[in-house]
Amino acid sequence: MEIFRRPGEMQAWADAQRAAGRRIGLVPTMGYLHEGHVSLVRIARERGCDRVAATIFVNPTQFGPGEDYERYPRDEERDLAMLRAAGAAAVYLPGVRDVYPEGYQTFVEVAEVSRGLCGDSRPALFRGVATVVAKLFHVGKPHVAVFGEKDYQQLAVIRRMVRDLDLDVEIVAAPTVREADGLAMSSRNQYLEGEDRKAARCLSRGLFLARNLFLEGERDPTRIASAARAVVEAETRATLEYAEARDPETLGPLRGPSDRMTILVAARVGPARLIDNITLQGGEAT
Ligand code: AMP
Repeated sequence: MEIFRRPGEMQAWADAQRAAGRRIGLVPTMGYLHEGHVSLVRIARERGCDRVAATIFVNPTQFGPGEDYERYPRDEERDLAMLRAAGAAAVYLPGVRDVYPEGYQTFVEVAEVSRGLCGDSRPALFRGVATVVAKLFHVGKPHVAVFGEKDYQQLAVIRRMVRDLDLDVEIVAAPTVREADGLAMSSRNQYLEGEDRKAARCLSRGLFLARNLFLEGERDPTRIASAARAVVEAETRATLEYAEARDPETLGPLRGPSDRMTILVAARVGPARLIDNITLQGGEAT
C-alpha cells in the first residue's frame, strides 16, 4: 500500500493507474476508521475498481467555531493497518497546508441541499465538505467514489455537486454499518462513555420504530417522523436537534403520504453530536 502526503504525488499515482487502464475507486474519510469505512473500500472493489485509494484528512473548513476539530480522534497507524488489511492500494494523507496553502480562497457551495437539517446547526459544514471532496477528486482522479448513507445529506450534496460541475466520477452510496445494538458506527462514538453510550441507541431505536410503522402500512411522513422524534425525546440524556421525514432524492419536505421517504435524526448525547437516518420505500426499509 502506497502512502502519499503531497497532492502532486497522489496525482502522479492516479495518472499512472489511468495510463495502465485501471479503474480507480476513492474513499474519502476523516480517519479513526471503523467497519463502516472498511465496507466502503470493499464496495469500491465490488464496483469493479482495480485500485482503491482512501484519503484521511480531518478537514478544518467543515468545522465551525467551538466544534470538535481539535479533539477529533486521530490514529494514523491503526488507520493504515486497517486500510492495508482491507486491500487499499494507496492512501492520501495530506497536511492542512497541502490542501489549503497560504492564500487559499476558493470554495464550492451547493446552495439549496446544504440548507436545513445539519446545515442549520452547522452552517460551515457542507461548504467545507463540497470544497474538500472536489479537491480530493482532482487529486485522486477516481472513476468511482464511495460515500456512506450514514451521512445522507452529505451524500446528497456531493451528488448535486457532481451533476452541477460535470465532474466525471460515479458516486456510489454505501449502506450504514451498525453496532450490534443498532447504533450507527461513527468515529464520534468514541466520545460516548457508560450511560451516554447506552442512551445513544435512542436514534436507531426511533428509526427502527419508524420502519415498523411504515411496514405496517403508515405512509404519513409527519406521523412517522413524530414517532421517531418521540423516542429520542423520551431519552433524558439526549437532546434532540431534528427528526424529519424528507424526499430521499432532493431532501425536500414531503407534502403528503408517500411510498418513499427518508427519516433523518440528529441529537446530542453527552459530548457527542450524533446523526442517523433510514430510507423507507415500497414495502421495504434500508
Ligand atoms: P467520516 O470519516 O466520518 O467523514 O466518514 C467517511 C466516509 O465513511 C463517509 O462517506 C461516511 O458516510 C462513511 N461512513 C461513516 N460511518 C459509516 C457507517 N457507519 N457505515 C457506512 N459508512 C459510513
